[in-house]
Parts: sequence; C-alpha cells; structure tokens
Amino acid sequence: MSSPDLTRQQAWRRRNPEAYRAHIEVQRALRKGELNKPNGCEQCGRHARLDGHHPDAKGAPLKVQWLCRSCHMILHRRNRA
Ligand SMILES: [Zn+2]
Ligand SMILES: [Zn+2]
Repeated sequence: MSSPDLTRQQAWRRRNPEAYRAHIEVQRALRKGELNKPNGCEQCGRHARLDGHHPDAKGAPLKVQWLCRSCHMILHRRNRA
C-alpha cells in the first residue's frame, strides 16, 4: 500500500527541523520513562490517539502538550490566524 503521508511528512520535516528534532527527543524520553503520556487529551479529556504538541519546540523540546487529533488541529488553525 502506498502512503501519501510519507512525502507530506518529509516536506514537513524539511520545513520544521526543530519540531522534528523535538519529536525525536520526546520519543526517546517516553521510552526511557522520563516523560509520561497521559491517557486522555489535555484539552477535552477524550481517550484517543494523542499527538504531542510543542508550544516551544526550539526552546523546550520536552515540553509537550498531549492533544487528540481534533484539539491539535484546532490549536494549529488558531495559531496560524
Ligand atoms: Zn481533545
Ligand atoms: Zn502541534
């Protein structure tokens, strides 16, 4: 199965190298148990697959907000406006 997400993700990675690095830092911290992923979205409490949102990827790569997909999207849409 082909994945159109792959190229999109690669493009995103090129545009946001800091955010990408922050993601890797977070994955590592999660694996080591230095960071905890909550069970529910921090915004709406929904138990869904959570995205790690970085309010400050460059300055604080391990500062993450755990949001469900829809809260995450809303947040980004608001930030862009
Ligand atoms: Zn949510
Ligand atoms: Zn985000």
